[in-house]
Amino acid sequence: MGKTVLKCGKFFDSVNECVKENVNVVVEGNKIVKVTCDAVNTEGAKVVDLSGKFVMPGMIDSHMHTLMNGDPGCMDDMIKLSEGDMAFNSMVNAQADLMAGFTSVRDEGSYGFVDVALRNAINAGKTFGPRMMVSGMGIGTTGGHADGHYNLNTTSKGMGTIVDSPDGARYAARFTLKHGADQIKIMATGGVMSIGDEPGAPEFTYEEMKAALDVPNSRGRISSAHAHGAEGIKIAIRAGITSIEHGMLMDDECIDMMVEHGTYLVPTIIAAYKIVENGAALPQEAVEKATRCLENHGKNLEKCRAKGVKIAFGTDTGTYFNPHGKQAEEFRLMQKYGNFTVTESLVACTKTNAQMMKWWDKVGSIEEGKLADIVAFDESPYDDITTMCRCSFVMKDGVVYKG
Ligand SMILES: [Zn+2]
Repeated sequence: MGKTVLKCGKFFDSVNECVKENVNVVVEGNKIVKVTCDAVNTEGAKVVDLSGKFVMPGMIDSHMHTLMNGDPGCMDDMIKLSEGDMAFNSMVNAQADLMAGFTSVRDEGSYGFVDVALRNAINAGKTFGPRMMVSGMGIGTTGGHADGHYNLNTTSKGMGTIVDSPDGARYAARFTLKHGADQIKIMATGGVMSIGDEPGAPEFTYEEMKAALDVPNSRGRISSAHAHGAEGIKIAIRAGITSIEHGMLMDDECIDMMVEHGTYLVPTIIAAYKIVENGAALPQEAVEKATRCLENHGKNLEKCRAKGVKIAFGTDTGTYFNPHGKQAEEFRLMQKYGNFTVTESLVACTKTNAQMMKWWDKVGSIEEGKLADIVAFDESPYDDITTMCRCSFVMKDGVVYKG
């Protein structure tokens, strides 16, 4: 088993939420075996000199879609692709995320169970990519966020399992886990890019949502709700959701409920920002909805931060003009729209995500016994937050992929 010693100049300690200097990390196989400021024996070891760099735990993106590549219209084009094509596209997208420093990701919904196949292939060493937690197909209602088909001859369920009753919702959750998903993704409200629905409106009744979420909750699995409007957010929280995704039209009661229930918020600011920034090239309905969402989002995020809502880092990468490998711009946007400090955003991307995903025993910090997922940057994000977009060293599972 090969031994590697990483000599780290600046070292982000996600456990104690601080930066240390001159830390040595010893890796054997795929595990971290020692983290120390003392000198270490480098005999027989490969030494990686990161003494001029800012080193941190491998980043985690807890909301992304390997299936989509960020091209405008990539969702509409889906119907023209076979699942084989989708699998190769997903692989290339996931690899771009890894090379940008995201060593773990949560795929928030694919087509069919393409993300399950990709996770399995990466875990088996058939290809390389980030460590993946996957959702398979999201669960939605007729005419809702996951129901993209209008052609009456199309029977493919595609991106969503569409249900309209508590029994249907329970079935959909069981079906999703049966086919290999790690967690349940449910569409609690309308969306921004889905034309014809309303981001402010709930799409599930409490009874439907509860029936769906009882399935992962009884099996120790986690769940996430695509949710913008306040009523849909509250239904999801009361029914036992793990994380609210986007949350861009929440009210103060939502914030109090998230604190009370320990619900995580995954803000995905960049998804709305990129739609507004590139508005001229996109359907006006989507731009109008994104503009409305973004205005509210900044104000609400400041309140969430002040009240202590658990913020997890996610980007919705794959959505329009939000391509894989570029999603670290979210760090800059967390400062701009929520006044998050650098430390808070780094913690959101490491410790908080790992805890939310129930992977804290293996990733999210550089500690003895954890998997050797370590990344580095040439500059410190405390000097320039945009450095997060220029990852220069990536190690996952003890294997160096970059630098
Ligand atoms: Zn998404």
